Amino acid sequence: MHKYRRLLRYAKRWRALFVFVLILTVAASLLAALQPWPMKLLVDQVLGQKPLPPFLRDALTKLAIHPTSSFLMGVVVLGGLFLFALNSVLEIGLIWAWTMAGRRMVYDLAEDLYARLQRRSLSFHSRNSVGDSMSRITVDSWCVYQVFDALFFTPFHAVLTLAVMIFLMAQLDGILTILSLAIAPLIMGASFFLGKPLRAAAKLKREIESRIQSQIQQILTGIPVVQAFVQEEREHRRFQQFADAAIRAQQQSTLIGSVNGLTSGLVTTLGTGLVLWIGARHVISGQLTMGGILVFLVYLTSLQTQMKALANVHTALQEFHVSVDRVMEVLEGEPEVAQKAHAMPLPFVRGQIQIETVTFGYHPEQPILKNISLEIMPGQCLAIVGSSGAGKSTLAGLIPRFYDPWQGRVILDGKDVREVRLEDLRQQVALVLQEPFLFSTSVAENIAYGRLAATRSEIEAAARAANAHEFVMKLPQGYDTVLGERGATLSGGERQRVSIARAILRNAPILILDEPTSALDSQTEKSILEALERLMAGKTTLIIAHRLSTVRKADCIVVLREGQIAESGTHAQLLKQDGAYARLHEMQFAGERQRRAI
Ligand code: ADP
Repeated sequence: MHKYRRLLRYAKRWRALFVFVLILTVAASLLAALQPWPMKLLVDQVLGQKPLPPFLRDALTKLAIHPTSSFLMGVVVLGGLFLFALNSVLEIGLIWAWTMAGRRMVYDLAEDLYARLQRRSLSFHSRNSVGDSMSRITVDSWCVYQVFDALFFTPFHAVLTLAVMIFLMAQLDGILTILSLAIAPLIMGASFFLGKPLRAAAKLKREIESRIQSQIQQILTGIPVVQAFVQEEREHRRFQQFADAAIRAQQQSTLIGSVNGLTSGLVTTLGTGLVLWIGARHVISGQLTMGGILVFLVYLTSLQTQMKALANVHTALQEFHVSVDRVMEVLEGEPEVAQKAHAMPLPFVRGQIQIETVTFGYHPEQPILKNISLEIMPGQCLAIVGSSGAGKSTLAGLIPRFYDPWQGRVILDGKDVREVRLEDLRQQVALVLQEPFLFSTSVAENIAYGRLAATRSEIEAAARAANAHEFVMKLPQGYDTVLGERGATLSGGERQRVSIARAILRNAPILILDEPTSALDSQTEKSILEALERLMAGKTTLIIAHRLSTVRKADCIVVLREGQIAESGTHAQLLKQDGAYARLHEMQFAGERQRRAI
């Protein structure tokens, strides 16, 4: 119940629209009850020559109208038309208002989910797939609309319509009313039980369809691998198998649907027949008019429809509860890295970083970093080297608080990073990663991502400093060229230069360079190292590198092994120590010599 209350908060913001929906619903219910009455007038008064009901006779006398048969026929036709038109207008208004209110709720919820997911830590996102998060925002957010519909709108509409109709039916014929009320639940129950296999078939169909979707997504994302390993035929056959399964599920659901329709149609016809039979006897005995029995039949259908709607509320809620749970997980999940209530502002830092006895891991009981301590003075460059998986990136991620350590502290200019405002902290850090991520927007927008207010000349200056200007000018629309997804239309080296330009423009006092040249050839590396040196001037830099050529000039080099500091010192000191660094150096140097010889 708590979950539903939380969701219904989204309705509060659109109170006015919902009041409008309620008013229209009342009007629609009353109007639905009036629908069969012109027909009753036609059958009883025009064809059956029965006297007019007293209220109508008095009204016509007051207007000095003498009701002839043709006049009454005109009233019936016009009355029917009028009711139809009014009903249609109401229906349109109702659909419009309900769609507006409902959609607004859905988008409000989707917005909140989006905002919360954006703030979840990187370890959350590495555990959860992008597809899953996307479907929570775009598909599961519809549950707020469906829950509100099932809990409020449908029951209100149904109960009101039922009340009005039962009241009017009771005026016409008490016994027939009781009979109709006794039959309606039978008809409703039949459709409810027969609906079970139908719902199961529909669920199976949806599952197969979603599997097809994820198959397509996976294959199109991995198209280079599919083509390189010539697996198109196999993937095609797999798709065909899915398609066959989807068609079988569709056939099954159609078959069950037809059997269901047939059976519930039989029950309905039997029930209606019973009402007709008793009704006809009442007409013969003069208890009910012919028109009255027609009104009953129309009401009987409405009664069944509204009761079915009420019975479906439970099933509908069951169907949405998975979506509701998925939405709640996001709304109620605490961000792993949260800003404290009274976090200190951090407008400017000099860039002194201390890492104090830090222990951290992604899974409990499996520490990746073990009791690490190190310090970087403002403007200095610290390099971290070590084999892949040693924990280098993890260590770097602690500085902008992508994660918080289990034990120990990360201190920036004397302040624990957990005590300062998260936004301020991250403003002080610029990142260059091994695989730079570029958005599918223009080159200029990509460079200015960290400083939206940058002018075109500032963007160009940053690109020049990053050795990117030349190649950008050769692109079809220069800085306005829109890049492919993830920057796919540029080479690895070009992407890296754009990302360095982005970091240069950001001009943050702390730089984190995570293997910025590892994916590049040595020619490109040279040009990028030059750009990086310009970027690093005067900044506190933490550089993670695989190739030692990148780190020779660092003020201090730390060798990380299995989450612990194996040794540290300058290039010359470490070579002299003849330890792990010296061995790494020797290995790479030998490799270089071999390459050069070839
Ligand atoms: P390096 O940068 O030295 O190659 P990382 O810091 O990337 O090492 O990774 C250290 C260890 O942590 C590796 O064993 C890796 O599998 C694991 N790891 C890295 N990121 C995550 C993550 N988001 N979730 C779980 N484990 C991770």
